Amino acid sequence: MNIAIMVCKKLTSECSGSWCFKAFAEKDKSFAIYKSEIETNLCGFFHCNGCGSNLDKELEYKVTQLKKVGVKTVHISKCIEVECDRYNEVRNFLLRNDFNIIDGTH
Ligand code: SF4
Repeated sequence: MNIAIMVCKKLTSECSGSWCFKAFAEKDKSFAIYKSEIETNLCGFFHCNGCGSNLDKELEYKVTQLKKVGVKTVHISKCIEVECDRYNEVRNFLLRNDFNIIDGTH
């Protein structure tokens, strides 16, 4: 299964993403659901383009790329849950684009 992680742009200036990648590599925390999967590939790590972004317009190409590599599920990172006033908007955007959503990463 191919998956991706969506993170908060505000946090990308200080966060390396290391804990998300560690949890994925160890199939820990929200990635524990893949323990029985033979192969789970992390095929994308992307952000929302910022608080003023128009998700439908600005993320269209990112969605195209994710679809091209067969991403079916997007994990919404903890930083979005903690930081974002647009959480439901972000969720609905992903749902509109036919992704399965998992809340959280590590
Ligand atoms: S819109 Fe939400 S996820 Fe994006 S930068 Fe702003 S707070 Fe972070």
